[in-house]
Amino acid sequence: MTQTFADYDIDTRDRTGTIKTTCPKCSQNRSHPKDPCLSVNTQKGIWKCHHCGWVGSLKGASVGRLSQNIQSFRLPIYQKADQYPDKLVAWFQARGIPFNVINRNKISLGKRFLPGLGKEVECIQFPYFRKGECVNVKYRALDAKAFMQEKGAEKIFYGLDDLDGCDWAIIVEGCECDKFAFEVQQG
Ligand SMILES: [Zn+2]
Repeated sequence: MTQTFADYDIDTRDRTGTIKTTCPKCSQNRSHPKDPCLSVNTQKGIWKCHHCGWVGSLKGASVGRLSQNIQSFRLPIYQKADQYPDKLVAWFQARGIPFNVINRNKISLGKRFLPGLGKEVECIQFPYFRKGECVNVKYRALDAKAFMQEKGAEKIFYGLDDLDGCDWAIIVEGCECDKFAFEVQQG
Protein backbone atom coordinates (compact mmCIF):
# COMPACT_ATOMS: atom_id res chain seq x y z
CA MET A 1 0.00 0.00 0.00
CA THR A 2 1.40 3.35 -0.98
CA GLN A 3 1.49 5.98 1.71
CA THR A 4 1.47 9.70 1.26
CA PHE A 5 2.89 12.58 3.25
CA ALA A 6 -0.67 13.44 4.28
CA ASP A 7 -0.83 10.08 6.09
CA TYR A 8 1.85 11.51 8.38
CA ASP A 9 0.22 14.96 8.59
CA ILE A 10 3.12 16.43 6.64
CA ASP A 11 2.01 19.37 4.53
CA THR A 12 4.28 19.66 1.49
CA ARG A 13 2.05 22.44 0.07
CA ASP A 14 2.25 20.65 -3.31
CA ARG A 15 5.94 21.28 -3.63
CA THR A 16 8.45 18.66 -4.72
CA GLY A 17 12.17 18.17 -4.29
CA THR A 18 13.94 19.04 -1.08
CA ILE A 19 11.52 21.28 0.78
CA LYS A 20 10.97 22.66 4.27
CA THR A 21 7.71 22.73 6.13
CA THR A 22 6.28 22.67 9.63
CA CYS A 23 6.56 19.54 11.76
CA PRO A 24 3.34 17.76 12.81
CA LYS A 25 5.09 16.41 15.90
CA CYS A 26 6.44 19.56 17.46
CA SER A 27 5.44 22.74 15.60
CA GLN A 28 2.21 23.39 17.50
CA ASN A 29 4.08 23.24 20.80
CA ARG A 30 6.82 25.59 19.71
CA SER A 31 7.15 29.28 20.40
CA HIS A 32 7.65 29.64 16.63
CA PRO A 33 4.91 27.35 15.30
CA LYS A 34 5.44 28.54 11.71
CA ASP A 35 9.16 27.78 11.67
CA PRO A 36 9.73 25.24 8.86
CA CYS A 37 11.82 22.87 10.93
CA LEU A 38 10.98 19.74 8.93
CA SER A 39 13.15 18.97 5.90
CA VAL A 40 11.38 16.72 3.40
CA ASN A 41 12.80 15.00 0.36
CA THR A 42 9.72 14.24 -1.71
CA GLN A 43 11.59 12.07 -4.24
CA LYS A 44 13.02 9.77 -1.62
CA GLY A 45 9.96 10.07 0.61
CA ILE A 46 11.98 10.82 3.71
CA TRP A 47 11.97 13.57 6.31
CA LYS A 48 13.78 14.87 9.32
CA CYS A 49 12.85 17.52 11.87
CA HIS A 50 15.72 19.73 12.97
CA HIS A 51 13.84 20.72 16.11
CA CYS A 52 12.49 17.49 17.66
CA GLY A 53 14.58 15.00 15.72
CA TRP A 54 11.62 13.17 14.17
CA VAL A 55 12.73 11.15 11.14
CA GLY A 56 10.77 8.83 8.91
CA SER A 57 9.95 7.61 5.46
CA LEU A 58 6.98 6.60 3.34
CA LYS A 59 6.41 2.88 3.10
CA GLY A 60 7.26 1.63 -0.36
CA ALA A 61 9.60 4.49 -1.11
CA SER A 62 12.93 3.24 -2.39
CA VAL A 63 15.15 4.51 0.37
CA GLY A 64 16.80 1.22 1.25
CA ARG A 65 17.01 0.48 4.91
CA LEU A 66 14.88 3.41 5.93
CA SER A 67 11.82 2.14 4.07
CA GLN A 68 11.46 -0.81 6.44
CA ASN A 69 11.81 1.47 9.36
CA ILE A 70 8.80 3.66 9.80
CA GLN A 71 9.32 4.08 13.52
CA SER A 72 10.62 7.50 14.37
CA PHE A 73 13.75 7.85 16.46
CA ARG A 74 15.43 10.74 18.09
CA LEU A 75 18.85 11.62 16.73
CA PRO A 76 21.31 12.62 19.42
CA ILE A 77 23.48 15.67 18.99
CA TYR A 78 27.02 14.45 19.34
CA GLN A 79 30.08 16.61 19.25
CA LYS A 80 33.42 14.88 19.05
CA ALA A 81 35.81 16.22 21.65
CA ASP A 82 38.62 18.50 20.53
CA GLN A 83 40.75 17.29 23.34
CA TYR A 84 41.08 14.17 25.40
CA PRO A 85 41.38 14.70 29.16
CA ASP A 86 44.09 12.66 30.85
CA LYS A 87 41.56 10.80 32.98
CA LEU A 88 39.75 9.60 29.87
CA VAL A 89 42.94 8.39 28.26
CA ALA A 90 44.01 6.78 31.56
CA TRP A 91 40.69 4.95 31.88
CA PHE A 92 41.27 3.27 28.54
CA GLN A 93 44.97 2.73 29.11
CA ALA A 94 44.11 0.76 32.25
CA ARG A 95 42.13 -1.54 29.95
CA GLY A 96 44.91 -1.87 27.42
CA ILE A 97 43.29 0.41 24.87
CA PRO A 98 45.61 2.96 23.27
CA PHE A 99 44.85 6.55 22.35
CA ASN A 100 44.47 5.95 18.62
CA VAL A 101 41.48 3.69 19.29
CA ILE A 102 39.78 6.37 21.44
CA ASN A 103 40.41 8.93 18.74
CA ARG A 104 39.28 6.69 15.90
CA ASN A 105 36.01 5.87 17.65
CA LYS A 106 35.39 9.56 18.50
CA ILE A 107 34.98 8.90 22.22
CA SER A 108 34.61 11.88 24.52
CA LEU A 109 34.03 12.82 28.12
CA GLY A 110 31.00 14.78 29.29
CA LYS A 111 28.58 15.33 32.14
CA ARG A 112 25.31 13.42 32.11
CA PHE A 113 22.52 12.63 34.53
CA LEU A 114 22.46 8.86 35.06
CA PRO A 115 19.16 7.60 36.48
CA GLY A 116 20.96 4.57 37.96
CA LEU A 117 23.08 6.86 40.13
CA GLY A 118 20.44 9.54 40.56
CA LYS A 119 22.89 12.33 39.77
CA GLU A 120 24.91 14.03 37.09
CA VAL A 121 28.34 12.51 36.75
CA GLU A 122 31.25 12.54 34.37
CA CYS A 123 30.64 9.99 31.63
CA ILE A 124 32.56 8.38 28.85
CA GLN A 125 30.50 8.95 25.72
CA PHE A 126 30.47 6.27 23.04
CA PRO A 127 28.82 7.48 19.83
CA TYR A 128 27.05 4.85 17.70
CA PHE A 129 27.43 5.60 14.01
CA ARG A 130 25.65 4.31 10.93
CA LYS A 131 26.88 5.60 7.58
CA GLY A 132 28.73 8.34 9.41
CA GLU A 133 25.61 9.57 11.20
CA CYS A 134 25.49 9.38 14.99
CA VAL A 135 22.23 7.57 15.81
CA ASN A 136 22.82 6.81 19.48
CA VAL A 137 25.22 7.56 22.32
CA LYS A 138 26.03 5.34 25.25
CA TYR A 139 27.10 7.01 28.48
CA ARG A 140 29.20 5.20 31.02
CA ALA A 141 30.10 6.75 34.33
CA LEU A 142 33.83 7.28 34.60
CA ASP A 143 33.94 6.24 38.25
CA ALA A 144 31.08 3.76 38.53
CA LYS A 145 29.53 0.87 36.67
CA ALA A 146 26.47 2.79 35.50
CA PHE A 147 25.26 3.23 31.96
CA MET A 148 22.54 4.66 29.83
CA GLN A 149 21.78 5.12 26.17
CA GLU A 150 20.23 8.16 24.54
CA LYS A 151 16.48 8.25 25.21
CA GLY A 152 14.28 7.48 22.21
CA ALA A 153 17.26 6.83 19.94
CA GLU A 154 17.51 3.82 17.69
CA LYS A 155 19.36 0.83 19.11
CA ILE A 156 21.98 -0.42 16.69
CA PHE A 157 25.14 -2.49 16.83
CA TYR A 158 28.21 -0.63 17.96
CA GLY A 159 30.87 -0.23 15.26
CA LEU A 160 28.56 -0.83 12.28
CA ASP A 161 30.51 1.47 9.99
CA ASP A 162 33.62 -0.65 10.50
CA LEU A 163 31.83 -3.42 8.59
CA ASP A 164 31.65 -1.39 5.38
CA GLY A 165 33.05 -3.54 2.60
CA CYS A 166 33.42 -6.61 4.85
CA ASP A 167 31.81 -9.95 4.20
CA TRP A 168 32.28 -11.26 7.71
CA ALA A 169 32.06 -9.84 11.21
CA ILE A 170 32.97 -10.62 14.79
CA ILE A 171 30.13 -9.94 17.20
CA VAL A 172 31.15 -9.52 20.82
CA GLU A 173 28.77 -9.96 23.68
CA GLY A 174 30.09 -7.46 26.13
CA CYS A 175 30.65 -3.74 25.93
CA GLU A 176 32.37 -1.36 23.54
CA CYS A 177 35.74 -2.18 25.04
CA ASP A 178 35.47 -5.80 23.88
CA LYS A 179 35.12 -4.49 20.36
CA PHE A 180 38.15 -2.25 20.87
CA ALA A 181 40.16 -5.27 22.01
CA PHE A 182 39.88 -6.63 18.47
CA GLU A 183 41.00 -3.32 17.02
CA VAL A 184 44.07 -3.41 19.23
CA GLN A 185 44.86 -6.99 18.21
CA GLN A 186 44.59 -6.08 14.55
CA GLY A 187 46.76 -3.11 15.37
ZN1 LIG B 1 9.57 18.44 14.99
